[in-house]
Amino acid sequence: MSARRDFYEILGVPRNAAQDDIKRAYRHLARQYHPDVNKSPNAEARFKEINEAYQVLNDPQKRANYDRFGRADMGGFGDMGFGGLSDIFEDFFGFGMRPRGPRARAQRGSDLRYDLTLEFEEAVFGCEKEIEVSRLDTCPRCHGTGAEPGTEPIRCPECQGTGQVRHVRQSLFGSFVSMTTCPRCHGEGEVVVTACGECRGDRRVRVTKTLEVTTPAGVDSGVRLRLDGEGEAGLWGGPPGNLYVHLSVKRHRYFKRQDSNIFLELPINIAQAALGDEVEVPTLEGTTTLAIPAGTQTGETFRLKNRGIPHLRGDGRGDQLVTVYVVTPTNLTEEQRELLKRLSKSLGKEVIPQSEKGFLNRIRDALNL
Ligand SMILES: [Zn+2]
Ligand SMILES: [Zn+2]
Repeated sequence: MSARRDFYEILGVPRNAAQDDIKRAYRHLARQYHPDVNKSPNAEARFKEINEAYQVLNDPQKRANYDRFGRADMGGFGDMGFGGLSDIFEDFFGFGMRPRGPRARAQRGSDLRYDLTLEFEEAVFGCEKEIEVSRLDTCPRCHGTGAEPGTEPIRCPECQGTGQVRHVRQSLFGSFVSMTTCPRCHGEGEVVVTACGECRGDRRVRVTKTLEVTTPAGVDSGVRLRLDGEGEAGLWGGPPGNLYVHLSVKRHRYFKRQDSNIFLELPINIAQAALGDEVEVPTLEGTTTLAIPAGTQTGETFRLKNRGIPHLRGDGRGDQLVTVYVVTPTNLTEEQRELLKRLSKSLGKEVIPQSEKGFLNRIRDALNL
C-alpha cells in the first residue's frame, strides 16, 4: 500500500472540501473497494487506505493537524493493536503533546474597569479616593476548591483523574482513539461531591470591595491607573486580573488647563489698563498679586511662573498664564460720565483706526522718529 499518498488524493476531494463532501466520497469509495464486493487483488489495500484517510479527514481536529503537519509514514497503520495505534495517534497528531494527567487549567481573572471623576483641584494636587468595586473573589469558605470544608473532592470517576477521556472508535482495521477534555471534571481530574455552601461550587463569590486609590498630582482626563491584582480572582490557580481606573476631570469655574499650564482670563477696567495697577489674581493656591503695567491692552498675557500644574512625570510644574481684557464701563454714574467726557475731550476727538495706526507706527519706526 502506498503509505505516502495524500489523504485528499485518496478520497478524491479537494483540500478545501466540506465535511459532507468527504463523507460522501468516502461512502462511495468504501462501497466500491470493500473486500466483500471487490475481488480485485489490490482492493483490500485500497480499502484500508480509504479508511485511513477518512478517519483523519472526517475529524476536524485531526484534519487540521494533518493540514498543518502533513503525514508520517504510517505503514501498517490499520493492523496495529489498540495501544500502539493510540500512541502513534497521540504522538503524531498532537494529542500526546499535552501533559498526561489532569491539565492545570489555570485561568487568569478578568480585568475590571472603574470610571472615576475628580475635581479639578484633586487632579492637580493628587488625592486619595475610596472606591467600591463589585467583583468575583476567591470564595473565602472553600478557598476556591468549590468543595464544602471538611469534604474532599474525589477522583473523577469519568476520567479516572486524568482529566481527559478517550474516544475509541472501532473499525475493521483497528481502533482509533481521540482524547478530549473530560466533560465531567472539565479537565481537573477531580469532582466535588458536596458543593461549598457559600459559592455553590463556583469557587468564586461576588463581593463589594472598598479600595483606596491614590491619584498622583498632575493627572488629567484620559489617564488610566492600574491596580495590579485588584481585578477578578483567577480560577484553578490562575492569577487575578487588574483593575483599571479611568480618570476624568471636572472643569474648573474659571481656570482652563492645557497640559501643565493653566489659563485665566482677567477683566480690568480702562483706568487700570491705562494707569497700571496691582491686582489680586486667583491661583491654584490662594491669590497672588499681579502688577498690571500702565498702558496694558486687551489680550496681553502675563506669566506667573510655577503656578501651574505639577508635571505628572518628573519634577517641577507648569505656569499660570493670565490674559487681561479691558472692560468698557456701563451703567455710569453722572460723575463718571463727566469724568469720561473730560477725558474724551482731552484725548481729542480724532481716533485713528487700529490698522492705520499700526501703519503709521511702522512708518515712524522705519524713519526712526
Ligand atoms: Zn466556596
Ligand atoms: Zn474527569
